[in-house]
Amino acid sequence: TYIVNDKCIACKYTDCVEVCPVDCFYEGENMLVIHPDECIDCGVCEPECPADAIRPDTEPEAEKWVEFNRKYSELW
Ligand code: SF4
Repeated sequence: TYIVNDKCIACKYTDCVEVCPVDCFYEGENMLVIHPDECIDCGVCEPECPADAIRPDTEPEAEKWVEFNRKYSELW
């Protein structure tokens, strides 16, 4: 699973949304999040992000974003 971190805030590009084969990005007021149960871990979105805000959830720095992505992808 991939997560979106705070580098996404205020980024208005949606290149990631366009390439995602399963449409698992959800958009809030300030940023996007990825639904962890819908993401198929294909990695296609990662290089498309101009802000480098999309990271694999296996990276240590990504850990604090895992619950955030889950929570808001279910709310939005
Ligand atoms: Fe969508 Fe693939 Fe990115 Fe997951 S890794 S959010 S399935 S494009």
